[in-house]
Amino acid sequence: MKTLENILNQSTFSKEDLVYLLGLKGEERSLLRKKSAEIKTNTVGNKVYFRGLIEYSNKCKKDCYYCGVRASNTHPSRYQLEDAEVLEAAKFAHENKFASLVIQSGERSDKAFVAKIEYLLQEIMKISNNELGITLSCGEQSLETYKRWKAAGARRYLLRIETSNRELYSKLHPNDTLHDFDERIAALGRLREAGYQVGTGVMIGLPFQTMEDLADDLLFFQKLDIDMAGMGPFIEHKETPLYPHRHDLMSLQERFDLSLNMVALLRIVMKDINIAATTAMQAIDPQGREKALFIGSNVIMPNLTPVKYREDYLLYEDKPCIDEEADECQNCLEARIHVAGGDIGYNEWGDSLHFAKRTKGE
Ligand code: SF4
Repeated sequence: MKTLENILNQSTFSKEDLVYLLGLKGEERSLLRKKSAEIKTNTVGNKVYFRGLIEYSNKCKKDCYYCGVRASNTHPSRYQLEDAEVLEAAKFAHENKFASLVIQSGERSDKAFVAKIEYLLQEIMKISNNELGITLSCGEQSLETYKRWKAAGARRYLLRIETSNRELYSKLHPNDTLHDFDERIAALGRLREAGYQVGTGVMIGLPFQTMEDLADDLLFFQKLDIDMAGMGPFIEHKETPLYPHRHDLMSLQERFDLSLNMVALLRIVMKDINIAATTAMQAIDPQGREKALFIGSNVIMPNLTPVKYREDYLLYEDKPCIDEEADECQNCLEARIHVAGGDIGYNEWGDSLHFAKRTKGE
């Protein structure tokens, strides 16, 4: 019979292995996390890269059943940052040696939005002497739009699949052309074709989700050969259609522990990708992001969105740091990263090593 140590030392993992490893608890779970921490140190090192996060707009044409800013929710005030506010945040990131930004937004694909993102990318490149590495997270777009934004300066793109199980996907979204599973997968393909470093991710502890689904998510990431990942626990929002299912969920602590196991396993199965320590981890455990950094993550996203807008960008409830200005956020994160045994990769893009190898054909 295979021991845990035997399994952890394998170079490939079956779905059964992954289901077993995801469910580990106690001492055995510590061994899993120790293994992933070792792999992290030996492959991507202990540097943590900052991606200053700009939550550009909560205007969204979609209606995902889990999301607090879904189009049908009338509670949040809808906003879009002024150009000057975006550029101010980019300037802050550049001056504070962050080297990278993420522009995240509700999904729109109208001409005005596409042109505005293109313009902002060009302006950010100008004010930073092309030194800021920009990640976009603005949803499904045409190949032409992805190429335009890439030409304007974006280098990475995060498009979370949220679950790789088609049936589960259909329980989390309206069943219409705007929320089509195949179209989401096709959009990930278009991102690859446009030449981005491509990231995706899932929610962990969703209603109706099984351990088998999560194991499949890990295999999906491998099959897609992603360069980056951002994943975290599902946290219910009371103004969404999934809220009535809250009684069927795992406890928040269980969702958090399972999310850490997912981070550990992803680091083990895809050693050289970038993995974000997401804010949702910290929403459950005050040290959540440090724990993720310690066992496998190497990217963190300090929030640079002007504080007055943050209350209206609550994709889930109890989101942390919604009232901290960017400089307070940076100081707090710096201390947290040192506690987690990491160094900050100031002035370094921290691009995905996996992407570099993939594009060189290694
Ligand atoms: S998850 Fe994204 S695409 Fe879906 S409703 Fe929320 S902001 Fe819009």
